[in-house]
Amino acid sequence: MNIEALQTRHPSSGEDAAPRVVSCRKFYDRESLMAYDPESEDWQKQLARRYDTHFEIAQVLNNVEDVPMSTYETFDMKVTPYLAQLMDRDDPNCPIRLQYLPSMKESLSVRMEHTLADELGEAEHTVPGTSVVHRYPRRVLFLVTTQCASFCRYCTRSRIVSHSGERAIGRADLDASMAYIAGNKEIEDVLLSGGDPLVFTDRKLDELLGRIRSEAPHVRFLRIGSRLPVQLPTRITPELCAVIEKHDVQMVNIHINHSKEITPLLRSRIRMLRRTGTMLGNQSVLLKGINDDVQVLRDLFMDCVSMGVRPYYLYQNDQTLQGAHFTVPLSRMLELYEGVRGWISGPAVPTFVIDGLGGLGKMPVIPTYVEEREGHIECRNYKQERVRMDYLRDGAKI
Ligand SMILES: *Cc1c(COP(=O)(O)O)cnc(C)c1O
Ligand code: SF4
Repeated sequence: MNIEALQTRHPSSGEDAAPRVVSCRKFYDRESLMAYDPESEDWQKQLARRYDTHFEIAQVLNNVEDVPMSTYETFDMKVTPYLAQLMDRDDPNCPIRLQYLPSMKESLSVRMEHTLADELGEAEHTVPGTSVVHRYPRRVLFLVTTQCASFCRYCTRSRIVSHSGERAIGRADLDASMAYIAGNKEIEDVLLSGGDPLVFTDRKLDELLGRIRSEAPHVRFLRIGSRLPVQLPTRITPELCAVIEKHDVQMVNIHINHSKEITPLLRSRIRMLRRTGTMLGNQSVLLKGINDDVQVLRDLFMDCVSMGVRPYYLYQNDQTLQGAHFTVPLSRMLELYEGVRGWISGPAVPTFVIDGLGGLGKMPVIPTYVEEREGHIECRNYKQERVRMDYLRDGAKI
C-alpha cells in the first residue's frame, strides 16, 4: 500500500482555497492528525479512522518499534486518533504508547510457559450457550460484545476482543444470556463488560438495559465497565447519559492507568456523566514501565477523585499470552500500596487485587498493618510508627 498516495492534499491557504476535503479516513501525516478535533464529528466516525498496524501509526510518530506481522495473529492493534494525539511523538516509553503499540516483547511473552490465553479461566466459568461468566455468588459478568474502541496490549480478554468478527457475541448469545439472568432469581448484580459495552449504539444499549430491568427485576445493582470514555471521550453524550439515567445504571467503571490519559475533554465528559447520578469508579492495571511508581499512582488516584471518579481496583497484570512482560512482582505491589495508603486521601486509594490463576477470583493484596505476634497486638501506621494494642487480644479484659 502506498501511504503517500492516500494522504490528504490540502489546498495552499488563501481566500480562494477550495473547502478542505477529507479524502481518506485515516490521518497519515502528523499535521492533519494534530489538526483533527475529536469533538468535530460523531464518535462512531472516529472509529473508522483508527490505526490498525504499527506501519500506519509510524506515519505520525517517531521511533515506532518494528514488530513481525505474526504479532497480529495473537492480538490485533487498534488506536483511535484521539489516543494517537495524546501519544508522545518521539518517546517510545510514553505511557500511552506502551499501552497501545505492539512490542517485540509480546513475541517472547507468547513463548513463555506460564502465559495463557484464558488465564482467569473465564471460558470454564461461562454458562454454556451464553456469554455470562458466573464465578461469584449473586453476581455475574455479562460479556455483551467482543468489540473495543482500541486494544490495550495487556488485555486479559485478548482471546475474544481480537479477531472479534470470528468470536462475535450475537443476538442468540445475548438472548440466552438474558434468559439465564432472568431465570436465576439469586442474581442481584449484573456487570456489563466485553469487549466494551459502550461500542453499542445508544439504541442498542437502551434495549439491552431495558430488557435487564424488565425481564430481571431481581437485579438490584447494574453496572457497566468501559474504557471507551478514556479512548474516545466523545462517546459520552447527552443521549448516552439519558440511557444510563433511564435504566438507573448504578455504577460505571472506567479504566485509566496514567494521569496522561486525563485530558480536559475527558474531564468535561466525565462531568456530564456524573450528572446522571451514577457512581463512577476507576479500574487500573498495574503495568511495569507505565504506572509501577509511587508518584505516578498517587497522581493518578488523586486526579481520579478530583474528577469525581473513585479508584476501585488496581489489578495485578494477568499472565496473558501476549502481555506477561507488564507484570510487576508481588513485593513491588506491596511497596506501592505502602507508598499510597496514608499518603493520599483515603477515598483515592483503590483495593489492590490479584485475579487468581484459572478462576480463583479476585484476592485483595494489602500489607499487614496490624498483627498478633508473640501474644501482642502489634500495630504500625503508614510512617512505620508502632504501638501495641494488647486490649484487642482474644479474651482481653475490656
Ligand atoms: C470482577 C468480576 C466480577 C465483579 O467483582 P466485584 O468484586 O464484585 O467487583 C464479577 N464476575 C467476574 C467473573 C469478575 O471477574
Ligand atoms: S478496552 Fe478492555 S477489553 Fe478492550 S482491549 Fe482494552 S483492556 Fe481489553
